[in-house]
Amino acid sequence: MPILLGCIADDFTGATDLANTLVKQGMRTVQVLGVPESPLDFGAVDAVVVALKSRTASVADAVADSVAALGWLEAQGAQQFFFKYCSTFDSTDEGNIGPVADALLDRLGDGFTIACPAFPATGRSLYKGYLFVGDELLSESSMRDHPLTPMRDPNLVRVLSPQTAHPVGLVGHATVTQGAAAIRSAFDALRNAGTGYAIVDAITDADLMAIGEACADLKLVTGGSGVAMGLPANLLRQSDGHPTPPSLPAVDGGSAVIAGSCSRATRGQVARAKADWPSFSVDPVAIAAGEDVAAAALAWADEQGSGRPLLYYSSAEPEQVAEIQARFGRQEAGELVEQTFGRIAEGLLQRGVGRLIVAGGETSGAVVQALNIRALRIGPEIDPGVPWTESLGGPRLALALKSGNFGGEDFFDKALGMLP
Ligand code: ADP
Repeated sequence: MPILLGCIADDFTGATDLANTLVKQGMRTVQVLGVPESPLDFGAVDAVVVALKSRTASVADAVADSVAALGWLEAQGAQQFFFKYCSTFDSTDEGNIGPVADALLDRLGDGFTIACPAFPATGRSLYKGYLFVGDELLSESSMRDHPLTPMRDPNLVRVLSPQTAHPVGLVGHATVTQGAAAIRSAFDALRNAGTGYAIVDAITDADLMAIGEACADLKLVTGGSGVAMGLPANLLRQSDGHPTPPSLPAVDGGSAVIAGSCSRATRGQVARAKADWPSFSVDPVAIAAGEDVAAAALAWADEQGSGRPLLYYSSAEPEQVAEIQARFGRQEAGELVEQTFGRIAEGLLQRGVGRLIVAGGETSGAVVQALNIRALRIGPEIDPGVPWTESLGGPRLALALKSGNFGGEDFFDKALGMLP
């Protein structure tokens, strides 16, 4: 059965965020890691999200990977395409949002789309083309000093213009509040005037739903996961499909948590879980000294009785992290810990663990890579932005992959408590 919506996401956690949004709108959604080499073969699926690492790649690589993803999604029968980037429009004058969107439009033989990163539920709103993060303009938020994509101009018409060969216009909030028909007329007027991109204002979820409805006939839509909220209804209506509620992963086996994030939320979650569960501290200094920490961690697992979840963590306070980074280098320390967690995850799988929670974006990427997982079916949401997932086509696992700062303090318990 052909899929309805084909999505290309410029990073891994952003892809999960988008997939989670589509699932909540009733789409059966699969996330694949990189462009697959073979056709999709996972039963009935409404939407596929291809997770790339193109946000901060070179322009040439980002364009090549995105066009390859589009080609694969076209071959799966997708009727509409969505290019997902960060709700803070992370990019530079060189790209990669403009060049990738230009290339996708070219390949689709079209010349018009929208660019709407707004996501009011997470505080990202757009007014008169200016992007706000909570109560601050983008350029006054912490994104101002982002190490790779510093955002110093909050006006997205100005930010996108140097990145694209096409003129950039605006559909303002006064039009958006009039509903889908008015928004569609504004798109037509801009398209007829030769404009390639409409930045579209959005302050509320109702705005996003109206924008989504107005995008029904666009081949390509671009934005944050917020604007994707309005797309499933169009596609399900056109295909006579119905919203399908997500199901939990049906995987047995032991449970484990791997926490490689040092973010505040994860530190709180680790502190809470340590009080109740057997826990093992993964020490970057020991790894750097050449100790086989992964082997020790797995030997420790063998000593624990079955039944209780196992907690592995490297999470440390900011001062300790700063000290480790000063000694070994930021990148190097991160990689040492990530590799160790990858090996621990492999060993846990061999020991019958079937339910795994991973805290940390980079850490999740390392674990998924070590386990050679190529696709995930997206299940119900645990806490805002974090769904349960089930691995497909490789080792069978229930996986909850959480960006460091997500989830309440009882996240680990809550997640495992949801499974039958
Ligand atoms: P988050 O989602 O919170 O940013 P990530 O997993 O993306 O979490 O990033 C955390 C990074 O910090 C990873 O590269 C991880 O290996 C590294 N790390 C984990 N623990 C420590 C530690 N104690 N000292 C230094 N770096 C660490």
